[in-house]
Amino acid sequence: MSFFLPTVALKRVTDISEELLNSLGIRAVFLDVDNTLSTHGSQSPFEGSVAWAQNLVEQGFQLFIISNNFKERVEPFAAQFQLPFVHFAAKPLPWGYLKAKKGLRNQVKNSQCLVVGDQIFTDIIGANLCGMKSVLLEPIQLENTASFRLRRKWERRFRKKAKMGRS
Ligand SMILES: [Mg+2]
Repeated sequence: MSFFLPTVALKRVTDISEELLNSLGIRAVFLDVDNTLSTHGSQSPFEGSVAWAQNLVEQGFQLFIISNNFKERVEPFAAQFQLPFVHFAAKPLPWGYLKAKKGLRNQVKNSQCLVVGDQIFTDIIGANLCGMKSVLLEPIQLENTASFRLRRKWERRFRKKAKMGRS
């Protein structure tokens, strides 16, 4: 069951504090894009998220953007954060996370990596497959496609559990 659960459930990416990262022993943070740093397909970052990311970088955390989306979507977005990125990451497969981890300036253990995202079936399972820690965020804009609605429905009971247990 814990395979479907994040380490922590929070509302917004900017709720992730330095104190939380330090208490979990985190050195690297892997950020999803859609519904984590902006709404789907938007090039406008959520309010405060660029400053939040900059502050963490200044504090010595290594940040990486990891998205299943196309290069054309991810590259200009990552540029606004001045962060390296992996596109077409094929989450929940470990490939994208391991590629990002290899690209870090200072090497860290998988257990020192934190995956941040809004989807259990991509971000959180991916983190758990890699032995990384994770933060599940609340999706800000719900998707309209049938496949997404189904995934959000399946997520519900795990979200409830995650909130009760950990945050
Ligand atoms: Mg997402």
